[in-house]
Formats: sequence, structure tokens, C-alpha cells
Amino acid sequence: MEDKEYMQTAIELARQGIGSVEPNPAVGCIIVKDSEIVGRGRHEHFGGPHAEINALSDCRANGIDPAGATMYVTLEPCRHVGKTAPCSEAVIEAQISKVFVAAGDPSEHVAGGGIEQLKRAGIEVQVGLCRKQARLLNAGFFKHAETRRPWVIAKWAQSADGFLAGKTRRWITNEASRRDVHRQRRRCQGILVGVDTVIADDPVLTVRIEGLNWPRQPLRIVLDGSLRISAGANVLDTQQAPTLMVITSGTLQRQAKRIRSLAAAGVEILAVAHDDKGRCDLGQLLDELGRRGIQQLLAEGGRDVLNSFLQQDLVDEVRVYISPEPLASDGTVRISEAMEQAGDKTHLWYAREQDFDGDRCISGMVGEIG
Ligand SMILES: [Zn+2]
Repeated sequence: MEDKEYMQTAIELARQGIGSVEPNPAVGCIIVKDSEIVGRGRHEHFGGPHAEINALSDCRANGIDPAGATMYVTLEPCRHVGKTAPCSEAVIEAQISKVFVAAGDPSEHVAGGGIEQLKRAGIEVQVGLCRKQARLLNAGFFKHAETRRPWVIAKWAQSADGFLAGKTRRWITNEASRRDVHRQRRRCQGILVGVDTVIADDPVLTVRIEGLNWPRQPLRIVLDGSLRISAGANVLDTQQAPTLMVITSGTLQRQAKRIRSLAAAGVEILAVAHDDKGRCDLGQLLDELGRRGIQQLLAEGGRDVLNSFLQQDLVDEVRVYISPEPLASDGTVRISEAMEQAGDKTHLWYAREQDFDGDRCISGMVGEIG
């Protein structure tokens, strides 16, 4: 095998962590000695040991001393003392002689420091092998570390003829598609909807997966400039998950009493600037969410919210679930022109088409991964 194939093996290992490791990046690591893979490791879940540590343990469990071996790791080894001991020290101690790093870690507590530490210890380090693939895998992590804003995923479900809602249908797509939405929510730290979606559907907006008691429910974010939400809305029950209501600064004064009672019930309020139509400033909102450490934000609707995000070029990834059936005269809300364009496979980078029991899911990135 060549260096590139080893690194690709490490990337595939890393991929298995998506949905369990966030807000940490998914990382994979391979240790090779005498042209043979002697250790494999990945970051398995948030709070668990890092990939390098797991690969070194695996190597030793296989009865092999990692001294003199080559390591392939998809992200720069950490050097800080966080939840676990820094990997750079473990790599040095194990006397690994050469390290291939796919991508540097731009986080301020690493930012080249891990690589520096390895080099100073006399280890040969090569950075950039399969860099793009590694960055694509953790696109949200890299965007957040580099811009301090979340990676925005626009998600919607539509009928074959482009309707988002119908007069008589509660769900547009099937159960398999809806199960996938819960898997997508799992990798996000925030789920965003407009208040019209809350009024129309009263969603709970939590991660619900059979047999899994998900410990890190994403923050539920409701764009509600003038605070029209009803007091009994599911999303205001903060026993299940935290909730952030986004209002405009004018509403903060006009509805002071209502805001106090929401706050008393554990709902957080964020006031942002608004445009001439009274809509919340999305750029300011993203800055604030990024500051709170939200890396991946799933924007689930409705039409006007998704349209605003798309028109302001704030979307990074698109995920569209399409039912094979048309709604025809039952259809009420049609997708916007911007949504129609964004959901067109030929306009997306790294486009993918999946089948969920007959529903199609088109997904991809809005731009190239740098
Ligand atoms: Zn580490």
C-alpha cells in the first residue's frame, strides 16, 4: 500500500465517528510498521480518547512496539491538556519515527503547535496528504475554527412537484427519511426553525433515535422577531432540550413581561438587529451562535427562513428529501426559486443521492472545500 492509501484508510476510520464525536472533529489514525498496519484507532465518542491514543493502544494490544513505526493521522495531533492527555506527547513517548498529518488543526489551542512539538522531538512530519478529503469530512469543525461561524445545513422535505406542505398531508416524506433527519440532527449542536414552522407543525426538534438516549440534545433556535410563539408550544418545554428564542431588539422592549416569563421557564432570549422588513439579522445570529460553540447548525425551515439563508449566501450544505409522489392540487407551500436552484444536484459540490425506501435524498456542499 502507498502512503495515500494508508491515509484514506485512516479517513474511512474517522468517518465512523460522525454523529458521535461532535463537537469534536472525527479523527482516524493508522500505524504502519514494515509495510503492515499494526494499529488502528479513531476518536469514537465525545469525551473518549483521541484516535492516536487508540491506535497506539491497538498496536500494543497486537503485541507490537510502535517504536520506529509510521503514523497516518487525519488531523494534527493535539498538544493541549483537555479532556485527555495531549496526543503529541503520547506519539513522542511511543517513539514513532514519522507522522503523516492530513490537515493542520486551526483551533487556537493547537494551530500548528502539535506539529511543532513532534518536529522538535526529532520526528519527521509531513502535512497535507489527502488534505481535502480530511477537511471535507470535518467541514463544520474547520469552518467554525477558521471563521467563528457555524456550518449551516439547509434541510427540507418536498413532494415530487416541489411542495413543502399539503392541505391533508402531515408528512411529505416517509419514515426512513425522517429517521435520517434524526441522524443528521445528531451531528449538529443547533437546530433552527422560523416561528411559522412552530405555529404550523409544533415540532419538538430533538434527536429521537430508537434505542438511544441521546445525551447532548442540540440547542433549539426559533427565529421569532416579534415573539408570536404560543405559550404551549412544544419547543418551549426546556425539560427535553434547551431553547433559544431569537427576537429583534425592538421586541425586547415591547414584550418585556412575556420575555421575563419565558426566561423564568428556562427559555433563553437573544435580541438581534433587524432589517427593514422586521426580520432578524442572520449574520449577527450566526456570529452569536458561533461564539457559543455551535459548529453545525441544521436549518429546518420553513420556506421563508431557508430562502433568506440561501439568498444571503449563508448556507454551506444542502440536504433535500424528495418524495416520489406529487401533491398536485393538495399542495399549499411551494419551494422558492433559491431552494429549487440549491437543491439541484448539478449545482452542488460533492453531490450525493441516497434512497430512503423510495424517497430520494439529494445532498452536497454549496461551495468547494478549501
Ligand atoms: Zn489528541
